[in-house]
Amino acid sequence: MQCPHCGYNDSKVLDSRDIADGVRRRRQCLSCNGRFTTYERIQKSGLYVIKKDKRRELFDKSKLLNGIRKAFEKRPVASRVIEKLADDIEADLYRQGKQEIPTYLIGDMVMENMKNLDHIAYIRFASVYREFADITRLKQEVDNLAGGIVKIALPSAQLPLLPDNGLEIVDKKSKEKRK
Ligand SMILES: [Zn+2]
Repeated sequence: MQCPHCGYNDSKVLDSRDIADGVRRRRQCLSCNGRFTTYERIQKSGLYVIKKDKRRELFDKSKLLNGIRKAFEKRPVASRVIEKLADDIEADLYRQGKQEIPTYLIGDMVMENMKNLDHIAYIRFASVYREFADITRLKQEVDNLAGGIVKIALPSAQLPLLPDNGLEIVDKKSKEKRK
């Protein structure tokens, strides 16, 4: 960084302070002792996503947010939580400092963050991003997610065999399916 007074390219930092989106530094030139201020900010432009067909497109957070919102449609998750999810992903992307990132990696990041928020939204999102070719792949994902804890709902003909609370759980699940 060149001194604005004499053009010398080395300086020492006198003071460093966090500001909203970066760091403000007070510097002193090592040659002329002149003082000046520099701002270090997170680069918020120039991040490109590489789509599956290899097209490059400028990263657009609103598109990301829309995709996430769709997955959470009618799910009991507050919109500020959904917005924070998109904010976190965006911040993460810029933190990595890359200029290009494949969409599938962004999809993976979203899924990783969604996993613990809402399983239905997660599966919806996964089915779009991973483009499950068949029901077997989808079931694998559901099985991984459930980790053997969530029981598969029994067909309604078998409902009377379940205890009362079992009925409730199955009923809730079938309602979710109808949405
Ligand atoms: Zn200078």
